[in-house]
Amino acid sequence: MPRNPRYDILFQPVQIGPKTAPNRFFQVPHASGMTNAAPRVRAAFRGMKAEGGWGVVCTGACSVHPSSDDSPFPNATLWDDADIKAHALMCDAVHDHGALAGVELWHGGAAAMNRTTRYAPLSPSGVPWMATHVGFMTSARPKVMDAGDIRDLIRWHADAARRAEQAGFDILYVYSGMGYLPYQFLLSDYNRRTDAYGGNVQNRCRLTLELIDAVREATQGRCAVALRVSMQELRARPSDVAESEAHEVMGHLKDAPDLFDVKMDYSAFDCSPSRFSAEGSHEATVAFMKTVTGKPVVGVGRFTSPDTMVSMIKRGVLDLIGGARPSIADPFLPAKINEGREAEIRECIGCNLCISSWHDGVWVRCTQNPTAGEEWRRGWHPEKVAKDAKGSALVIGGGPAGLEAALVLARRGMQVSVAEAGRDFGGRLLWESSLPGLRQWFRVIDYRLGQLQAMANVRLFPESPMTAQDALDFGADHIVVATGADWDRALCGPNEIPEGRVDGPGVYTPTDLERGAMPQGPVIVHDFDNYYMGSALSEMLADRGLPVTHVTTAGTAAAWGFMTNEQPQVHQSFVRRGIVLRTSERVVSFAGGTARLAHMLSGV
Ligand code: SF4
Repeated sequence: MPRNPRYDILFQPVQIGPKTAPNRFFQVPHASGMTNAAPRVRAAFRGMKAEGGWGVVCTGACSVHPSSDDSPFPNATLWDDADIKAHALMCDAVHDHGALAGVELWHGGAAAMNRTTRYAPLSPSGVPWMATHVGFMTSARPKVMDAGDIRDLIRWHADAARRAEQAGFDILYVYSGMGYLPYQFLLSDYNRRTDAYGGNVQNRCRLTLELIDAVREATQGRCAVALRVSMQELRARPSDVAESEAHEVMGHLKDAPDLFDVKMDYSAFDCSPSRFSAEGSHEATVAFMKTVTGKPVVGVGRFTSPDTMVSMIKRGVLDLIGGARPSIADPFLPAKINEGREAEIRECIGCNLCISSWHDGVWVRCTQNPTAGEEWRRGWHPEKVAKDAKGSALVIGGGPAGLEAALVLARRGMQVSVAEAGRDFGGRLLWESSLPGLRQWFRVIDYRLGQLQAMANVRLFPESPMTAQDALDFGADHIVVATGADWDRALCGPNEIPEGRVDGPGVYTPTDLERGAMPQGPVIVHDFDNYYMGSALSEMLADRGLPVTHVTTAGTAAAWGFMTNEQPQVHQSFVRRGIVLRTSERVVSFAGGTARLAHMLSGV
């Protein structure tokens, strides 16, 4: 199908310094868990996005020196010439499809604890960064950089820039954001220096400007230089000469790079789950940038709607549409818009399972795109499936797993029948997506059902409960059972092992609520699953006017939600909704409307 002319603007080339992006689709740097130890995995993962039409494809954070070591979190490196070859594979894969390749040169400063390299973390003034944050927590305190350290830092960036150009990168980032070293110089809370790099805003901008100059000089203007910068904290600070300190800082930086990549400060808000943030949620913080600079600006906002993208450009918010999660969920998002196939976009649901991969220290995985991270190892492609299967398959269960199984089998060439006991397809997501904030999770069903309904080799049977005999009598060559799981009524023992059960009047599992049961009066939500369900139920019950006490065995609500960037906003939501939170406690018994609790550690 031809492209909708409404979207033509998205396919205009954009000049970025000495380079030209072929269109406005820009895969901004994002973590993938793929270090230099997996260069082919990384090349195939990034190259797939270029094949799918992204005009620029970048790495994740790429350390310029061993004094910036993020372990146990994975990061790439450009520490010496031996690192060039690994990156060249990615650049070749990206260039093969006509896209530009970008590298995010990174020094973490006080945010990188150098656990493997054992270098002293560096900082402007010795102030630790997020020292109580899970994963960053440490007893180490950073070194105050002297003039020699600053000269070294600039030289490391220049050396890394030269290597990056040799590898084939077109766009070289200086990273002054998200708490990393150059950004620590920008913020007065972390920069208490009294030399030329501290004090007033002009001095605090000096390091970032010198890094940009060093990177440009190192490649003698052949590569474009981008500045990635966080705005959230700076916007909150007043300025005597501008609307905010962000306006003042950007006024000093406005002519320095060839491109601005603007973002928030904290991962939980920069990469916020859809549960708490809508598409384009950064706009209020970053939109002013285009009023300050004439350089192109890229920013993210979990954009999956081409109309929203067009609006961002026409309203002068952004020049390039940044994508991290949308590019993981659908590497072919630009190609589908270009070919008039918007309805086939596999939209990111904002669940942030991809972020949890980085927190886990492993290659990226995605709820919507199961091929993500498996492009090289298993040769999986998000759009092309080998037609290598014959015969027929019966899939029992029309929830997320059943529909995905049916889709893959049908694409492989089988005759597929899907039997769903209920009236509607969707399984657990039919109800779960009605919980507060989870509406976009239903995209998992929408996408798959839409695809299946259009396939001639697929038959969908709603209201078709099946016994084992029914399934055998159906006569399919293969049977896939995808009937899901149920919630347990187990209590949590002192060693966090399920122990004993709670049952009887007034006790409900999520499944009971899904089937229509609704508690009356005050409610305890006992959560030792620690992902989204417990906190989403507390929110739902509070929204219905019930007094809710959320009891969790962990030290925070939705403790695993740290992995998906949900946890901070769950706590904020609890405060807004008046939900009482009791942490590190377990329910020991419940009878006659009275619950007995015990502390997880003391037992009392
Ligand atoms: Fe989007 Fe979830 Fe996939 Fe991440 S894991 S890209 S948030 S659908």
